[in-house]
Amino acid sequence: MKIKLPEILKNAETVAIAGHVRPDGDCVGSCVGLYLYIKKVFPEIQADVYLEEIPESFCFLKGTDEIRHSCEQDKSYDLFLALDSGDTGRLGEAVKYFDTAKRTVCIDHHISNVGYAGENFIKPDASSTSELIYEILEDDRITEEIAEALYMGIAHDTGVFQYSCTSSRTMQIAGRLMDKGIPFSDILDKTYFEKSYLQHQILGRALLESIRVMDGRCIISGLRKRDISFYGVTPKDMDGISAQLRNTEGVEVAIFLYESDVQEYKVSMRSKSFVDVRKVAQFFGGGGHVRAAGCTMQGSMHDVVNNLTKEIAKQMPEEKA
Ligand code: 5GP
Ligand code: MN
Repeated sequence: MKIKLPEILKNAETVAIAGHVRPDGDCVGSCVGLYLYIKKVFPEIQADVYLEEIPESFCFLKGTDEIRHSCEQDKSYDLFLALDSGDTGRLGEAVKYFDTAKRTVCIDHHISNVGYAGENFIKPDASSTSELIYEILEDDRITEEIAEALYMGIAHDTGVFQYSCTSSRTMQIAGRLMDKGIPFSDILDKTYFEKSYLQHQILGRALLESIRVMDGRCIISGLRKRDISFYGVTPKDMDGISAQLRNTEGVEVAIFLYESDVQEYKVSMRSKSFVDVRKVAQFFGGGGHVRAAGCTMQGSMHDVVNNLTKEIAKQMPEEKA
């Protein structure tokens, strides 16, 4: 990105940084990394980060204890920085500060982002928002703590450098961040690979109950409210289930859905090589990336799955006879 942070911050004395609801690794990594950098390099600026509750495993990152989880205070910021959020709905309660800020800037990599802020820096081919944040900073001012946050974000959104969004530039940046002396294997273990017993149980249940349609090219698994309360899991515990379903041999699209409210389902989709799941998610009011997207849908599980598969089938080549 040609734009650099000083230009983005021009004349701002107060800055709000916010990411998306149900914050994931990239969302937290980019927000916290940028926050720590502003605090260090521009100490005269008063910066606040707004995020919903974050997974416990991310709390080793410096600055996470300063994250604001409540948006009750009435404040008008000089600048609102929206990170990793494809639309204003994704900002959750923090949208209030977006609406009242003097200037708004969005930095994001979601292809579904229409450019809702005053200034928009959207690069759909970037692996992650954390990668874009690295690009606007000066490398030699990035400390180990900042590098930990950005590395975590990049690693999470690339499935640990596995997905097709990983470029040689992504690897170069990850290498530069490793050069800062971060405990990278520890970060990956603690924040990405290690799951709680409960998370593994719910993953196991989702895999066990999955069904395949479209000649085995689409795999679906869903959890109803009663299952969720039986296991006592939260939405954060179900992260990664759709990615695991996608790893099934012969599968092009994986759908994982859970009942988020009465007759309401949160849908998470992943694809392998040709189905644009962002298109499907966007059709139902959601968004995301070509290979990873989501939306919220109303109706019974049966209706939701029917509607989704109808849209996905449009992108599947004819079934073999
Ligand atoms: P996940 O399946 O992990 O929840 O989300 C996959 C991707 O789709 C993420 O980049 C996420 O930001 C995006 N996404 C998930 N749900 C929604 C949604 O309801 N609306 C929009 N705009 N994006 C979503
Ligand atoms: Mn992201």
